[in-house]
Amino acid sequence: MSYTGPGFDLPQPRRSLRGPLTVALAALVPGALLGWAVYAAVDGPGNGGSSAGASATASASAPSGAPSSTTPSPSGDRKPSASPTAEESPSPSASTSAPAASGPLKGKVVVIDPGHNPGNFRHTAEINRQVDIGTNRKECDTTGTSTDDGYAEARFTLDVAHRMRALLEEQGATVKLTQDADRPFGPCVDERARIGNAAKADAVVSLHADGSGAGNRGFHVILPGAVDAGAADTRAIVGPSRDLGERIAGNFVRVTGSAPSNYVGGGTGLVTRKDLGGLNLSTVPKVFVECGNMRDSKDAALLTSGAWRQKAARGISDGIVSFLRG
Ligand code: ZN
Repeated sequence: MSYTGPGFDLPQPRRSLRGPLTVALAALVPGALLGWAVYAAVDGPGNGGSSAGASATASASAPSGAPSSTTPSPSGDRKPSASPTAEESPSPSASTSAPAASGPLKGKVVVIDPGHNPGNFRHTAEINRQVDIGTNRKECDTTGTSTDDGYAEARFTLDVAHRMRALLEEQGATVKLTQDADRPFGPCVDERARIGNAAKADAVVSLHADGSGAGNRGFHVILPGAVDAGAADTRAIVGPSRDLGERIAGNFVRVTGSAPSNYVGGGTGLVTRKDLGGLNLSTVPKVFVECGNMRDSKDAALLTSGAWRQKAARGISDGIVSFLRG
């Protein structure tokens, strides 16, 4: 989730707490996560995570206004350097937010928040505007990061969002996106949160890929910490959001085979933060998923693969389905 783009995210300090934390986690996680916990304990990354509180960088973005139901944007909004085109998402299909007629998730509303916006870099003044996130003020939105070859995080998040929408609609869910590259920039993080709230979403997932240092690998799920300040009051969503996040992490490992982050979260793949407007202002269960590190070449090879993005979309979607079915 980097804000400013390439080069801005500093690697997190490492320490070796993975073992103990993993064990503790294994004791707490529900059965559905067993596979993941075992994986983390037995075959996890060698590097312990850094502190859970997370990266100095993140912040994220939040959604915007109108749920899109349109096809992705005019290519004009794309970052010039972005390359990979070959593996764009499978037909994003036109009718996006149409509720499915049947399926186990009939009646459930899922809001997918594709982090950043492919057009943000053209609108620096607008996205640098400060907005109130309850605990403090923060930039409206950020450009996001990119791989060394120029594949933009904003393109990645939209692609995974389209894949997830298709999977969740198959299950009968009503799916809304906070942006579909159908607006010049943003939405601002506060608006992204409000979109999920207004939709009375049963679950919201904000999609990102990190911009940390080379060698830092793996995914992590960011959970809202308990805050009660100004317009932010997450106390009611901390519990359900953790449940949602744990299920997503477990399924992400199972489906993608990717390891939890080796640089944040102590090997658990879970990080709690109180500085993200998109989480602070949410009144419905919500997490962020950092699918990998775009600045690491091995992670970048995964993130730029359409086949891998399909797995990522399925892992996250399976976690949401598990959460919604209880
Ligand atoms: Zn991001």
